[in-house]
Amino acid sequence: MRDVVIIGSGCAGLTAAIYSARANLKPLVIRGIEAGGQLTLTTLVENFPGFPKGVQGPELIELMQKQASVFGAEYKDGHVTRVDLSRRPFVLEAEGETIETRTLIIASGASARLLGLDSERKLLGHGVSTCATCDGYFYRGKEVVVVGGGDTAAEDALFLTRYADQVNIVHRRDQLRASKIMQDRLFRNPKVKFLWNSLVSDVLDVERGEVTGIKLKDANTGDETIKNCHGVFIGIGHSPNTSLFRGQLEMNETGYLITHDGSRTNVPGAFAAGDVQDHIYRQAITAAGSGCMAAIDAERFLEAEH
Ligand code: NDP
Repeated sequence: MRDVVIIGSGCAGLTAAIYSARANLKPLVIRGIEAGGQLTLTTLVENFPGFPKGVQGPELIELMQKQASVFGAEYKDGHVTRVDLSRRPFVLEAEGETIETRTLIIASGASARLLGLDSERKLLGHGVSTCATCDGYFYRGKEVVVVGGGDTAAEDALFLTRYADQVNIVHRRDQLRASKIMQDRLFRNPKVKFLWNSLVSDVLDVERGEVTGIKLKDANTGDETIKNCHGVFIGIGHSPNTSLFRGQLEMNETGYLITHDGSRTNVPGAFAAGDVQDHIYRQAITAAGSGCMAAIDAERFLEAEH
């Protein structure tokens, strides 16, 4: 029987692990499919306090993991396939093991969204990617497309200019959503071109099993054109990883967990932290902060029970 199990090993989960380990609760962190969370898919993080020269995302995660280990946090690889929150202790199944726990901290984060095209799914890993930092290297000297107008798309596009000769940002409107500083960097970069008011209606060429281009639809006129390219990076935001909790925990209409009074969910003893419950700020530092809150809430909950 565990006192604290943490689902997820991004900034939120690992900060919760540091705090609950220091409270002598020996937390078990179940790392999940996308271990380390979104920071492991990024390069330089320039806005995490304490790193005036920036820090590499994967390095920051590794440091947090080590820091939690120092105080007794334990890790389990793999992902949770079932959770029963209808009774306490809660019961989880992960990689064939049944785990019982008095409290649960859900920090399962959010995953990259796709456009929903059949061709996009078929060519995922064959020219379609959701991770520029993982796959950018393959596009040295080539032409790529980045879909989206937010900070993810902006960051991906800038990263890809290290390798690709030309990076085309395809956005459905005529204005970016990305932060001002990122927009300025994009507009200054001669390798970045913009295809405004454009929707991707198909990715070519499924028959050949590789990306040769995309079909674009003009959002105003409906006219279709083809843009040749070698790779397509989808940067249109994220969806929360909450399917395990459907019917058990309160969620908003887009599936984000609803928390109240700090990190509490509607089930006593179950807490949520990070992007799984935050669709507004979604920053590494806010995720870390909410992980800290969840650990303190779980500790006080256990104390009150004894
Ligand atoms: P956002 O929700 O901010 O942006 C998503 C973008 O994709 C929008 O431009 C949106 O268009 C577009 N989009 C959404 N769905 C579709 C679709 N079906 N077809 C075409 N386009 C679509 O998500 P991000 O992941 O970019 O950013 C999320 C949060 O994380 C933000 O708060 C951001 O600031 C933060 N972030 C910060 C970073 C940093 O500080 N370095 C790096 C990455 C993210 P539209 O604009 O029309 O809605």
